[in-house]
Amino acid sequence: MNNRSAVFIASLDSGHVHYLEELESLAKENDIPVICREAQGLIKFFLTMHKPRRILEIGTAIGFSALLMSEYAPKDCEIITIERDEARIKAAESNFLKHGKTKQISLLSGDALGIIKGLTEPFDFIFMDAAKGQYLNLLSDILKLLNPGGILITDNVLQDGDILESRYAITRRDRTIHGRMRDFLYEIKHCETLCTEILDIGDGVAVSYKLSSST
Ligand code: SAM
Repeated sequence: MNNRSAVFIASLDSGHVHYLEELESLAKENDIPVICREAQGLIKFFLTMHKPRRILEIGTAIGFSALLMSEYAPKDCEIITIERDEARIKAAESNFLKHGKTKQISLLSGDALGIIKGLTEPFDFIFMDAAKGQYLNLLSDILKLLNPGGILITDNVLQDGDILESRYAITRRDRTIHGRMRDFLYEIKHCETLCTEILDIGDGVAVSYKLSSST
């Protein structure tokens, strides 16, 4: 989306509860990644419409998006979020406590690649916002955990536009991630059990719906 359109659309945003606005500013001041406003709006839309009972998030950071989801999902919705960075785990736990969300949000600490293999109870909504190079490796476990009729939102899939470039235009260091993300996007667009659209908002967001007839 071009920047003028993004700015105009953002100007119409009705905002969030006060503590989320504060936490978002704090994260930005400290260079901690949080989902962009457009992706926040998209998540809010899907949670309001879909009313999930169980949410899985991969990539907690300091807990902003988990808290955001807790505000827009049904009150009895359970949110499980995974983070591997020690400092961010501490900050997220403290934020969940501070805002009275420890019953609704559970943080699993460690590498998502291992942790999701141990999860068995399925989810209605999965938000993937972790290391981009790992999306492809996480995909098969994620698909097993997503209920038919469930939604998978994947953030940062256009990599600041780099994904459009030929691999030769990408610095050697970033070529592996570039290749893996292209393979991931191909998989989610061609997977028989998913219906996926890729949206040019923020850094690119993929929205996938798991077909109701699939297992
Ligand atoms: N969802 C957060 C938000 O909007 O508030 C932002 C998440 S940030 C973009 C990505 C986070 O994923 C980082 O804090 C990083 O440490 C974590 N991460 C990356 N790869 C991971 C993995 N394999 N397992 C667990 N956490 C991971």
